[in-house]
Formats: sequence, C-alpha cells, structure tokens
Amino acid sequence: MPASPTLRHDYHFASDNTSGICPEAWSALTQANQGRVPSYGTDDWTRRACDLIREVFEKPDAEIFFVFNGTSANSLALASLCQSYHSVICHDFAHVEVDECGAPEFFSNGTKLLTATGANGKLAPETVERLILKRTDIHFPKARVLSITQSTEWATVYSREEISALSAVAKRHGLAVHMDGARFANAAAALAARPRAGGKGEGHSPADFTWRAGVDVLCFGGTKNGMNTTEAVVFFNPELAKEFDYRCKQAGQLASKMRFLSSQWVGMLENGAWLRHGAHANAMTQRLASALRALPGIKLLAEPEVNAVFVELAPEVARRLQEKGWHFYNFIGAHGYRLMCSWDTRAEDIESFIVDLRAALSA
Ligand SMILES: *Cc1c(COP(=O)(O)O)cnc(C)c1O
Repeated sequence: MPASPTLRHDYHFASDNTSGICPEAWSALTQANQGRVPSYGTDDWTRRACDLIREVFEKPDAEIFFVFNGTSANSLALASLCQSYHSVICHDFAHVEVDECGAPEFFSNGTKLLTATGANGKLAPETVERLILKRTDIHFPKARVLSITQSTEWATVYSREEISALSAVAKRHGLAVHMDGARFANAAAALAARPRAGGKGEGHSPADFTWRAGVDVLCFGGTKNGMNTTEAVVFFNPELAKEFDYRCKQAGQLASKMRFLSSQWVGMLENGAWLRHGAHANAMTQRLASALRALPGIKLLAEPEVNAVFVELAPEVARRLQEKGWHFYNFIGAHGYRLMCSWDTRAEDIESFIVDLRAALSA
C-alpha cells in the first residue's frame, strides 16, 4: 500500500482511526482545494458525492447528508426516526449504547435505548421480537427503531439473510431499521468476497444487504475507511429525511466548507478505493489471525470476518508488548484484547508484532 513516507505505521493495532488519510482521499482534498465554490453543501463536489453514493446503492432517490463523525451520524439519524417517548433496540455492545456518551438519547430528547445480547456481536430475530413484545403498555417507551451495526463491534458481519430476517421482525411491529456502518466498507468487502447464493448473481451488493434487506437509514463510515472527519447519513427512504438538514445544522454538524467532506467521498467511490481499503484491512487481519493461531498458548476469542482480531493474552505478555511500544486495547473481560487493522496496515507491521509477541511469550 503506497503511502507517505512520513507516516509512522508500526506499533498500532489500537484502532482503525489511528491511521491517517489515505492517498485517494488526500488527493481529492487537494483537487477540491482550488478557488472558491459555494458553501454549505451546494457545490459540485457534494452533488457528485451524493450521486456516487446513489450509484453504489442503486438507489436514485436516496437522500444523503455528510456529518463530521459517527456519533453525530448515529444520534441524528436515530433522533429523526423517533419521538422522545420511543425506544431503540440495539445490541448491548453497540457503539450507540456504550461509546456515544448518551448522544442518541440527548439528540432525541429522551428516546430510550433497550439492549439485548447476542453471540458474536449480533442480534437474533427472536431476541429482538421478545424485547419488542416484553412491554407494550402505555407505561413503557414504545419500540420504534432496530439499530444494528455492520460490521459489528465483534468484527463479524451480518449476511443479507440475517439482516432481512431482523428487518422482517422490525417491520412486522412497526419499527424502522437503522444501520451503524462505521465499518461498512469492511463488511461490504467481506460480503463481496463470499460465493453468490443460488448462482443467480444475487446477494452481496451494498444494495442487497441494506435497503433491499429492509434497512431504512445507513450511517456510512468514511473515517475508519481512510477519510478524515466524514460520515454519510444515507436515507434509503427519502420521506424519513424530511428536515434532516435542520437537525444537522442545529447540532453543529453542517459544514460550511462542505467540499472538504464530500470531495473525499468522490475520491474513494469513483474508482472503488473504499472497497480496496476495506478488503486490505480485512486481509491483513486474516494474516495476523493466522500468525497468532500458529503460536502455542495463544487463544483467539472470535473468528475475525473483517478487520479486528480478539485475542486472550496473559497480563504480563500484554504488558511486555505495551512496554515495547505496541498500542492495543483491552476489550473483553480482564485478558481479552482487540488488535485492529486498517487501510495502512502492512505485512511488516504484523511480522514485527509477532516477533515481539514470541519474545514476550518466552520471556
Ligand atoms: C468508530 C465507531 C463509530 C463512530 O465513532 P466517532 O468517534 O463518533 O466517529 C460508530 N459506530 C461504531 C461501531 C464505531 O466503531
């Protein structure tokens, strides 16, 4: 992966947002930095970016808004689907529940999040239905949205069939479906690599596992894919986007120099770079997982389908690696760590990590 020689690549498996801006987004920013153009999203870069997103999703009437980060994308999207007396069903590991400081509740003026658990970061239709039906009386907030994360916080991917089954339950009970796609590119790349169902060429396009599977709103992640401070809120049902521009403005999420958010999407979408970077991060993760499996005494806590490996490390082993300068987070229990790859992870980074891990294990 060619990148600026000034970028320091090694020592980072902490998150995909510790990586820099990828060459395609950077080059688009440079091109967009020419002269004066209209502000607040009325420029040609923004028009092109929206059209490219409509093309990727085969949805000419989709409504698209660019915001600065994932927390605002999720919170504002959820707020637009809910009244203050509603509730949102999500996984108990969901970013909206554990990593957004109550922003979904805040921006929706009190909508409650209801959490359910499920293996590998995924919700199952029966669990969702049980939660919807648990309380339907006037004294409990009415379930209004199902929120799922694709790819999940556990580096797994919902198949199109799984999403359709979840949406079917949601729709049966009058709930809308929101997808947190902070790592949508990783999921799209992983699904594109899967064999097609029934040989009919159906199944794994971005349209297939979003709106065709019942998703109403997608928060399409740009930042973790290699862009800077930009996420796209994609309303597949344009009715739901009504007055969303006002919501963004009020929340401080309407960029005046919008071209510097939207141009990056043009650079990433027009030549497929978004999928290549997603696939690269996934491939580096598989490489890391294989190297870890080959080490005696190392236990993987989940089978990675996208760009993170969850591994159990003894405290002294983790400490030795951290003393060597490696960055990674404790994620599950006392000894479960997450090692995350990104668009800029190199095979050499994985090799040096494994060398240091081997030394830490035998110290
Ligand atoms: C990173 C991430 C987000 C967005 O987080 P911000 O820091 O607000 O940009 C949202 N959802 C998931 C699952 C994430 O991993």
